[in-house]
Amino acid sequence: MPHDLPKTYDPAIIEDHWAEYWVREKLFAQPTPSAQSVEKDGQSYTILLPPPNVTGRLHMGHMLNQTEMDILVRWRRMSGRRALWLPGTDHAGIATQMMVERQLVSEGTTRQQLGREAFVERVWEWKRHYGGAILDQMKRLGASVDWEREYFTMDDKLSVAVREAFVRLHEQGLIYRGAYIVNWCPRCQTAISDLEVVHEEQKGHLWEIRYPVIDAAGKDTGEFVSVATTRPETMLGDVAVAIHPEDERYKHLHGKKLRLPLVGREIPIVLDEWVSRDFGTGAVKVTPAHDPNDFALGERHHLPSINVMDDKGHINAEGGVYAGLDRYPARKRIVADLEEQGLLAGIKDHVNNVGHCDRCKTVVEPRLSTQWFIKIQPLADKAKQVVREKHITFTPEMYEKTYFEWMENIHDWCISRQLWWGHRIPAWHCADCRKITVARVDPTACAHCGSAKITQETDVLDTWFSSGLLPVSVFGWPNFGAKTPGAPGSASGTGESSENRADFDAFYPTSLLVTGFDILFFWVARMIMLGVWFAEGVPNADGSKRTLADSVPFREVYIHALVRDANREKMSKTKGNVLDPIEIVQQYGTDAVRFTLASMASPGTDIAFNVARTEGYRAFANKIWNAARFLFMNVDRAAEIGIAVDPAVLGGMPAIPETMVERSSESKKCQGTTSVVPQMPHSKPGALAPEECISDLPTAPLETRWIIAELHATAAKVNASLENYRYDDAASTIYQFFWGSFCDWYLEIVKLRLDFPIDGPESESAAQQAAKSAGRKAALTTLVQIFETALRLLSPFMPFLTEELWHAVYDGNPPAKSIALTQYPQAAKTIDNYALNAMALVQSLIVELRAARKDAGVPEKDAVPAEVRIDATHMDLVTESSAMIERLARVSELRMVKSITAGLSKHSTPSFDVAVVYERTIDVPAERERLTKDIAKYEKGIAAAERQLGNESFLAKAPANVVEGLKKQEAETRLLLEKAQAALDALPKEG
Ligand SMILES: [Zn+2]
Ligand SMILES: [Zn+2]
Repeated sequence: MPHDLPKTYDPAIIEDHWAEYWVREKLFAQPTPSAQSVEKDGQSYTILLPPPNVTGRLHMGHMLNQTEMDILVRWRRMSGRRALWLPGTDHAGIATQMMVERQLVSEGTTRQQLGREAFVERVWEWKRHYGGAILDQMKRLGASVDWEREYFTMDDKLSVAVREAFVRLHEQGLIYRGAYIVNWCPRCQTAISDLEVVHEEQKGHLWEIRYPVIDAAGKDTGEFVSVATTRPETMLGDVAVAIHPEDERYKHLHGKKLRLPLVGREIPIVLDEWVSRDFGTGAVKVTPAHDPNDFALGERHHLPSINVMDDKGHINAEGGVYAGLDRYPARKRIVADLEEQGLLAGIKDHVNNVGHCDRCKTVVEPRLSTQWFIKIQPLADKAKQVVREKHITFTPEMYEKTYFEWMENIHDWCISRQLWWGHRIPAWHCADCRKITVARVDPTACAHCGSAKITQETDVLDTWFSSGLLPVSVFGWPNFGAKTPGAPGSASGTGESSENRADFDAFYPTSLLVTGFDILFFWVARMIMLGVWFAEGVPNADGSKRTLADSVPFREVYIHALVRDANREKMSKTKGNVLDPIEIVQQYGTDAVRFTLASMASPGTDIAFNVARTEGYRAFANKIWNAARFLFMNVDRAAEIGIAVDPAVLGGMPAIPETMVERSSESKKCQGTTSVVPQMPHSKPGALAPEECISDLPTAPLETRWIIAELHATAAKVNASLENYRYDDAASTIYQFFWGSFCDWYLEIVKLRLDFPIDGPESESAAQQAAKSAGRKAALTTLVQIFETALRLLSPFMPFLTEELWHAVYDGNPPAKSIALTQYPQAAKTIDNYALNAMALVQSLIVELRAARKDAGVPEKDAVPAEVRIDATHMDLVTESSAMIERLARVSELRMVKSITAGLSKHSTPSFDVAVVYERTIDVPAERERLTKDIAKYEKGIAAAERQLGNESFLAKAPANVVEGLKKQEAETRLLLEKAQAALDALPKEG
């Protein structure tokens, strides 16, 4: 049998199948477009995947941002954009090097024993074996990225860009070497990054030292300033003592000097607001060479930095008599000497947060060392300008302020790392003239003195340097020649070629960056700075100068929220509340997990992930699955009697209003027809099949008009919501349409029209039978049309389920390779509001009738007569919809009355009253209780409305339509109150 779907929805089976299919068929590959096709501006929709670390595993944060990106990319692709989502991984210098180092340690060796070259080769080997794990997870989750363009930040192509950027910045005088505080491991004898430092609480001491105040002549005044320290040996490198400028205790010491104990150096008292008045004595020693905060303070006050330790953590010559001692014996001697001189004011027990080397557990020594820097201000200025001029916008908007705050206080960027894994700095030190040669091609001699005694810098670049260049480097920069020879900024170095630059022209600037706030500065700001700096020099495709607006790496930045646990707690390993997305996917399916995240995702709102919700969305998927099975069953039955849905009518947007008008005039030309039969709303005018030319009723049945109008309204809202990153609104709109309008209402109503088997009573004329048949075909066509369109609407959110069902709709003969390559539904400009309102009334009538049945105690299966009292204007609507109402409310006969027969339990709305006629007499006490409750509810509602309408300040502030709505609501409630009161009065008295 065609359309053969398994009885139960099993996400694991269909998801594995389609995930593999999408990759194999390269469905989301976006090849380099031809130069001509690129000219149409704004057609591309490009997103760069924030490259996960090559060592990474997918976590809930990835799952959220990838879901958000995939929804947008699928939606834009289906909406006709040249969509490209570009994947790759980051070499993650520190994390990867550490991982391989641990492996070496477990094998009884070290990276030093292996040597640099062999070690780097070993890391590559690791990367080749395990580096693709996180992307494999993405493949299984169906991310619609272009796998043909997958990159790695150490690929040759990207490494060329890194080198070019470094050399160019150096040529521009924007790269220099300077002193900087690093975490130094005296055992490993290397600087290590913050990520490699493990902090542990440790019992120690706080030593309080007295520094004598001296007068202008350098003589002791007899006064002292006390400072506290956990590392007394660093006092050898003190260059000042800092106090808060507003600290009353020290105001008389402004401008004075102190004598550094044991060393004898005269040091100034400096005023700095960074000093906390409440901590310790309010005076702090300043040791720029051994503390990052002191270093910053020293910079602010132009103080010298005195490094008192060597690479092994021994006191050096700057430490005078203590030179040669290890830092800990030196500490003992210093404390003893201070005590002897009466300069030790006290020793307190103190719990320290001490940094240890992650590898050897040695206590890390913050220490000044020589590093490479980018002079950031010129880059930062442009990066500020592009945001100020709105060439880049942030969602949520508040991050723009955060961005500016950071950019205003930006410091030069230290880009060197003492690692082996990464892009090695292309600089050579000359042993003869001591100068540095920076070059695009490895040099053989010093550029300054010609000496061959040159050695390459051992440092590598900060990982963020290469990831900051991604928006330009992934599209081929700088490896394309400028079209206009000599154009400003054209690549001038080696490695240049006149390779096709169509990728850059087509996809740069990218459209959107979706990322977390935690890397706003590490990554987002760096991409803006580097992207604008280098792209501005690339002329446009026609050779004209690129504007600043077109130099940005992306037009929009969307900062996604955090995924928390169900209790809104942050997920953390220590709390043990970390959810593994892969585990949840295995349990409920990718589609349900995606839908859960989407249904809660909106700008700036954290997500409390609750699997109960995911279970609910799995049920949603199941509901759609069952709807498909019902639909296919009917399609197959219809086929048995020669009724088929023409696949040509599928794939667009079912439209009703315009065609209806044309059709109605055309229909009238048909002859010999009598029956009232619905029209096919979707056919082209003038292409009517004979059996359709029957009706003199110009309209399709209400439910057809209504479901089409609902579909349009849904499409309009979903498209608008996605434009504004309101994934939550988009998801709930589709959910309500599919579950509520389509499954709960439309499917129930359409069963009436389908009404198989088809043998009518003998009395039916041929014309009547033909009419019925046409009605079935029309209903079936609408049903399939609506379902197919709804699948496309849902597709970006639940790509797997919709792919499976969409292929089934076309019975294995689809018009495209994937639903993802079809058109996204777009709403008509005008929506059939009459149908929406009319159906709302009919639905409300059915709901009230069902409630009346329940109150009257009518058994589920019994159909009973019902009375309806409704305004004359709606009378026709109810009469025309009587079949639908009777079926859905289980009413055997609908009696239109002027007023409900006394004694029947009446259900009322402002527009109508209904009651079921049921033999069982009313349970008077129960009825009285119900009405009394209703009356109390109405009275409460009226009182609340009166209170609000009587509140002057509310009336002054509230929009007019809100006030109007409230007044209308109050009037309606008064009407209901009257009706309920009358019904209560009409009840037989008790007793
Ligand atoms: Zn170490
Ligand atoms: Zn030289």
